[in-house]
Amino acid sequence: MTTEVITRFAPSPTGFLHIGGIRTALFSWLYARRNKGKFMLRIEDTDRERSTEAALEVILDGMAWLGLAHDGAGGDLVGMDDKGIVYQSGRTQVYKDAIQELLDRDRAYYCFCSREELEAMRKEAMSKGEKPRYNGKCRDLGRRPAAAEAPVVRFKNPLDGDVVIDDLIQGRVVIGNRELDDLIIARSDGSPTYNLSVVVDDASMGITHVIRGDDHLNNTPRQANMFRALEYEVPAYGHIPLILDPEGKKLSKRHGAASVLDYRDNGYLPEAVLNYLVRLGWSHGDQEIFSIEEMIELFELGRVNKAAAALNPDKLAWLNQHYLREGKTERITCLLKTTLVRLGVDVSGPPDLKEVARIQKERVKTIAEMAGQSRFFYEDFAEYDEAAAKKHLRPVVFESLRQVRETLAGIEDWERGALHAAVNGIAEQQGMKFGKIAQPLRVAVTGSGVSPSIDVTLELLGRDRTLSRLGRALELIERRIDSQV
Ligand code: GLU
Repeated sequence: MTTEVITRFAPSPTGFLHIGGIRTALFSWLYARRNKGKFMLRIEDTDRERSTEAALEVILDGMAWLGLAHDGAGGDLVGMDDKGIVYQSGRTQVYKDAIQELLDRDRAYYCFCSREELEAMRKEAMSKGEKPRYNGKCRDLGRRPAAAEAPVVRFKNPLDGDVVIDDLIQGRVVIGNRELDDLIIARSDGSPTYNLSVVVDDASMGITHVIRGDDHLNNTPRQANMFRALEYEVPAYGHIPLILDPEGKKLSKRHGAASVLDYRDNGYLPEAVLNYLVRLGWSHGDQEIFSIEEMIELFELGRVNKAAAALNPDKLAWLNQHYLREGKTERITCLLKTTLVRLGVDVSGPPDLKEVARIQKERVKTIAEMAGQSRFFYEDFAEYDEAAAKKHLRPVVFESLRQVRETLAGIEDWERGALHAAVNGIAEQQGMKFGKIAQPLRVAVTGSGVSPSIDVTLELLGRDRTLSRLGRALELIERRIDSQV
């Protein structure tokens, strides 16, 4: 019988979950789904000072937004909430018990070294050109602390042999035990350290595959030794390379290190973000577009790149545009509505927002862009786009725009065909190209140089708004003419 695959995502709520973190979650989730296993969520909130409610909310909301549902941790694990999420902050006693167990089995020991002694050790190692490490002074003391003493506890790392990790992404990693010193597993106040808690949790949760960022790779040999000392089975590991910014540097707030929810708030669709993320470091031939089902079917850790992947905002925009086009009009309408309402726009119409969304979803890259380019349908714009107005609302177009206004005022059937014919007729009569009238007209009625085709724009905008905005533009041009004389 093969054992069920159980993976986990173990974020620390100390900063906002960013694109790199969520890609780790995605790969873990995909691996579990692909293998019909389980994906669990553990919140590593032992650092009470730096952990915040807001960061936790971003983790939970971000994962829910992207549809990365977790399975509840099984059994009646200490520190688990009613949704099966494990919180490290509720498991202190479990860690303390594990530390005691290691002490009882002589796999850990109290270390009484003072700060000064440790500093001297560090200096000595450095002077010999060696890595600073604990020299094992208290390893064989076998002494228990007296009442007034508050020693740390160190893990007795094996002295000989190698730790071999057959990493599912990085390949075989071999570290000699001589290179690993005796790690602190309990601080002098008794609180457990990161490596100890992770091992205890991965074991208690039955994790079979630890998939995480390769910034943790140097912890893995020590963790493997601790698993063995506690007589747990060592899980399989897959360490994912980092994500870099488009210039190949560490992620910054401007590039990717912002909260994952910023992508939602900036108008990206969850399936576009997931598709983008799955391709950051993983490939399947030269396929670019993956539905969630395809990702689950095709995902393989062995095909994750060993080198770091760089962000490519243009590609995300391209994917988002693809999914906007594919998206059902009803859904895009809802998203557009939420965004416009948040901007304080009354979208009760006319025009029907669904019509606006149907047209706009074919042309824009994000919902935010769609909202920005749809406001003018519902409210008068405060100001013209300066460059567009300067370029297009000039004295030479006054007469044509005046004629357009007059002609449109007389149109009975306000629909795109008739509107197009009217504008075209005036262009012909003036011996001008269609665009030479359409663009000033667009700036006049939308305030900017960007909108759907002019006939559709006018149809959706309606007669009253079109005529009054044309009037406003004509006044502006008139003022320009006056100021010239
Ligand atoms: N809490 C750690 C982090 O956020 C992850 C630990 C792990 O995956 O083992 O980097």
